[in-house]
Amino acid sequence: MQGIYSSKHKLRNSKSELCGGEFVTPFETPQRVEYVLKEFNNRNIGKVVKPIDFGMGPLLKVHDSRYLDFIQSCHTEWQQAGNSGEAIAWCWPSRDTGSSFSPKDINAKLGYYSLSSDTSISYGTWEAALDSANVALTGTKLLIDNNSSAFSMCRPPGHHATRDMFGGYCFINNAAVAAQYLIDSGVSKVAVLDVDFHHCNGTQSIFYNRDDVMVCSVHGDPYSAFPYFSGYVNETGAGYGKGFNFNYPLPPNTGYSVWKRALCSALEVINNYGPDKLIVSLGSDTFKDDPISFFKLDSEDFFDYGYEISKLDVPTLFVMEGGYAVNDIGVNMVNVLQGFET
Ligand SMILES: [Zn+2]
Repeated sequence: MQGIYSSKHKLRNSKSELCGGEFVTPFETPQRVEYVLKEFNNRNIGKVVKPIDFGMGPLLKVHDSRYLDFIQSCHTEWQQAGNSGEAIAWCWPSRDTGSSFSPKDINAKLGYYSLSSDTSISYGTWEAALDSANVALTGTKLLIDNNSSAFSMCRPPGHHATRDMFGGYCFINNAAVAAQYLIDSGVSKVAVLDVDFHHCNGTQSIFYNRDDVMVCSVHGDPYSAFPYFSGYVNETGAGYGKGFNFNYPLPPNTGYSVWKRALCSALEVINNYGPDKLIVSLGSDTFKDDPISFFKLDSEDFFDYGYEISKLDVPTLFVMEGGYAVNDIGVNMVNVLQGFET
């Protein structure tokens, strides 16, 4: 299995995250991908290639153009407005006023185009996010050209980003961009399986009305976990997408046997759908020592579920999402890949 990596991810190196009423060093650090790359190479999983530049076309198929313009210009506009810190949203359109207007002020834009205040926009964020999407797209191209599986070492992650909102450390929805690119390349059925601890609110919302991309997610019950406002069992799709969205929320302290049962239910649903290609949004924040999550998976469990996914026997693109127990992220992520390859 080939890996795709870009050193441009290091440009995303923000210094501030609002957590527990304090500014802390962000959990989503540049070291994350470096540890994963090191482990991928140590275990000789496969060749590592650099991303190809796909331009803006594939991103515009999934995201609003004004939103992408905003992410691109945000940090500059923020500085021009006289701010010295990093750009953080602090004022949102409230539910009783509606939000159908185009904001002009940078503070209004930040609220309009965001879903949470945890994620700051710092210098280099756009360049890193853009290349993270290229890392996903290059893996997608390998899937199409070689019909082989691949691992896109994406950073920043993507699954929380909606068509026009950033948050949860995500700016461009890499998995959604990859799925759309597959569809636009003539693939008729794609499934996205999200095994990150957090619900993939962005991926769900992007494909919620469609039957050509099935989305299944196993995650921490949003009653107690970010993103709080989506990821419930009764969210099953709408319109043409009715019956093509599946959520498996699980409670705090869920261990591997219960988690695996939910995963196998999702795999059965995907198998019945019969996708031509599979995208796995791979987050290792289900690990027992993850600092911001509440599942209890051990490192060897990642190997086991990689093997379970391989039983689908579908060309698979693994897209890196979350995982914040940095010392263990390499072992856990690569365990999934090695289990898959077994
Ligand atoms: Zn996560």
